[in-house]
Amino acid sequence: MNDVSQRTDVAIIGAGPVGLFAVFECGMLGLRCTVFDALDRAGGQCAALYPEKPIYDIPGYPRIEAAALIERLEEQAAPFAPVYRLGHTVERVAARPGGGFRVETAEAAVDARAVIVAAGVGAFGPNRPPLSGIEAFEGESVFYLVTRREAFRGRRIVIAGGGDSAVDWALSLAEVTDRVMMVHRRAKFRAAPDSVARLERLAAEGRIELVTPFQLHALEGTAPRLDAVIVADFDGGTRRLEADALLAFFGLSQNLGPIADWGLALERHQVAVEPSTCMSSTQGIFAIGDIASYPGKLKLILTGFAEAALAAHAIFPLVHPGEALHFEYSTTKGVPGR
Ligand SMILES: Cc1cc2nc3c(=O)[nH]c(=O)nc-3n(C[C@H](O)[C@H](O)[C@H](O)COP(=O)(O)OP(=O)(O)OC[C@H]3O[C@@H](n4cnc5c(N)ncnc54)[C@H](O)[C@@H]3O)c2cc1C
Repeated sequence: MNDVSQRTDVAIIGAGPVGLFAVFECGMLGLRCTVFDALDRAGGQCAALYPEKPIYDIPGYPRIEAAALIERLEEQAAPFAPVYRLGHTVERVAARPGGGFRVETAEAAVDARAVIVAAGVGAFGPNRPPLSGIEAFEGESVFYLVTRREAFRGRRIVIAGGGDSAVDWALSLAEVTDRVMMVHRRAKFRAAPDSVARLERLAAEGRIELVTPFQLHALEGTAPRLDAVIVADFDGGTRRLEADALLAFFGLSQNLGPIADWGLALERHQVAVEPSTCMSSTQGIFAIGDIASYPGKLKLILTGFAEAALAAHAIFPLVHPGEALHFEYSTTKGVPGR
């Protein structure tokens, strides 16, 4: 590890929507931020899992695509010149003898007066179906998320899974693909009733083939080129589905990763916080967004935005002890640096 450490007021762990907005809230109070993310781009779940999906519950935006929301948040944070360290997983956060914290990745260390953990579901990754040799097809013909719907235009695709993601993508990709086959181990889908009704309508019209109750059994082809997906029923029978791509939606593995070892009080894979400040069990370490837990917590982007404001105000006196913080509207003070 490079032991030349840098200094910042606030280290933000996670560049998802909530971590990005925390840069703005801290910036408005004159606090400088360094933002870490394990992924090589900002945006968290919005960028990695559903960039082209419209979000309908962001205040002031009746409809905004997830990727566009991330662009707006980056723009809003930009006047405060945050230091981004993307592609850097924070492995360790330790209290420093003189106060504050040392935040360490495999490559670098940053000293911060306070830490905001905005790490979502932690080091997230898709649940991979247990198919022999699947890794060799990944990225070319096997996918766990859709970053660009157009990439599937004219292709024959198998979608596996029975939840919202599987059903939503089947509906959306039916518009651009040559063929959609939907494999699920039960006849019933666990998605929003409206979406299931639309899926059944498209199946009745022959635009989507429902392959149920079946489960994935094997991949056929010369990796990374896929020729067919073999599926099995529960009586020992198999079917061969000719396809160019497999999209498997079996949910996210929720793994807090290194965060679990930082000595913070946890509640069911989330960091327990005091809701009026979002401070964790360790003075000076805060948690906001999906990773924060308190009674009544709603895992929504807008909730995380409000938590970012609470945390920034609670951090100010830690960075500037004894200095009075006068609450001001943004309309009164403008955006410093703009
Ligand atoms: C398909 C889908 C649709 C959704 N639709 C909506 C919706 O309509 N409205 C809504 O409000 N919400 C929606 N959500 C939920 C919303 O995306 C989340 O609430 C939001 O992304 C949480 O933001 P966050 O910044 O807290 O965490 P995340 O977006 O999860 O970002 C956390 C980031 O932290 C990083 N990280 C984790 N651990 C470390 C570490 N140790 N070091 C460095 N980086 C780390 C991760 O790589 C990740 O980039 C949806 C979610 C999904 C999956």
